Amino acid sequence: MEHLISISEYLSSEELQRIKEFSKDKETPFILISKKKIEEKYDQLTANLPFAKIYYAMKANPAEEVIRLLHKKGSNFDVATIYEMEQLLRMGISPDKMSYGNTIKKEKDIKKAYEYGVRLFVTDSLSDLKKLATNAPGSKVFFRILCESNGADWPLSRKFGAHPGQIYSLIVEAKKLGLIPYGLSFHVGSQQRDIGEWDHAIAQCKYLFDDVRHYEGIELKMINLGGGLPAKYLKPTRSIEEYSAIITRYLHEHFGDKLPEILIEPGRYIAGDAGVVVAEIVLISKKSESSQYEWVYLDIGKFGGLIETLDEAIKYPIYPENGYNGNGKKEVILAGPTCDSMDILYEHFKYELPKDIKEGDRIYILTTGAYTYTYCSVEFNGIPPVKVYIID
Ligand SMILES: *Cc1c(COP(=O)(O)O)cnc(C)c1O
Repeated sequence: MEHLISISEYLSSEELQRIKEFSKDKETPFILISKKKIEEKYDQLTANLPFAKIYYAMKANPAEEVIRLLHKKGSNFDVATIYEMEQLLRMGISPDKMSYGNTIKKEKDIKKAYEYGVRLFVTDSLSDLKKLATNAPGSKVFFRILCESNGADWPLSRKFGAHPGQIYSLIVEAKKLGLIPYGLSFHVGSQQRDIGEWDHAIAQCKYLFDDVRHYEGIELKMINLGGGLPAKYLKPTRSIEEYSAIITRYLHEHFGDKLPEILIEPGRYIAGDAGVVVAEIVLISKKSESSQYEWVYLDIGKFGGLIETLDEAIKYPIYPENGYNGNGKKEVILAGPTCDSMDILYEHFKYELPKDIKEGDRIYILTTGAYTYTYCSVEFNGIPPVKVYIID
């Protein structure tokens, strides 16, 4: 695998210049989010999957500017909590643009969501279904199928979804309880590199569509393809054009010409590429005279929002602000600034930095627009939450 990135694959020289210019007088660390990038990603997705209704998974990046932009472009929103819902409502976004996409809900939150006007809910259990029937009567419900998440950098397996047999019973029960059994959903795992995972999930949907129609006379109408579309991290994935073409082919292979209503819930794909962390090297040290690797400590780490480096799962592209010069490179261990020994970013996987890099130099951590600043600790070691700047 490449330890060095070719920056032009991630940022144009104008973009790079712009980041440098913007950062000059700002104190690190901070995250810079580009609205233009978000818009580009959204447009690419609608161009490639024109039949899919987009429900942006707002947990990926809930910044108001980002939400406002996506709302203006016609996006719907997948919300996980009543708090996300209330943020959207405050921003004037109508409840019919929202789907309550968390299978884990308090009864009082379901009631509130219903009072706010939300009528589309996910479920994967009998207990939750009963709460929905009582507190959100007559609503549309979709059922989440369990996925294995093989091939995903950030799997979501086990915790969400139920086996098809269980889903079948829930569909039947939903109708009895006066809800509208509307469709099926799944999540193949975040940053899913194996497009074949969608094939498997769509096949299960088809099987359930047919079975409940045949045996129960229930017509399901919708498939929610979930998240999983990739952002551009260190290791390349296939392009969005390829993902879209292959997923579209799977849909037609299983459902023929006439597709059900298709929803998709991109999070990482929309927001990931739009962010850059600007950080500073605090300390460079060696553990002994003969240690092979230096430790490079940055002013941001796991508690500053880079928690997806857990198990080194997400490998962000990393680039020194001043680029790579002709003076050689060295492999290093990268760690954060806090007094917790788990605050190491990359120890096994070695990133390369210029040989003459020094304390005070700046590092760009690319593709940090999704699942970063909201994960930041509040005041661990007294460090304030990472600053976020949103630029056009
Ligand atoms: C987090 C989440 C998503 C977004 O997943 P990505 O892989 O970031 O696109 C979509 N749907 C649901 C239900 C989620 O919880």
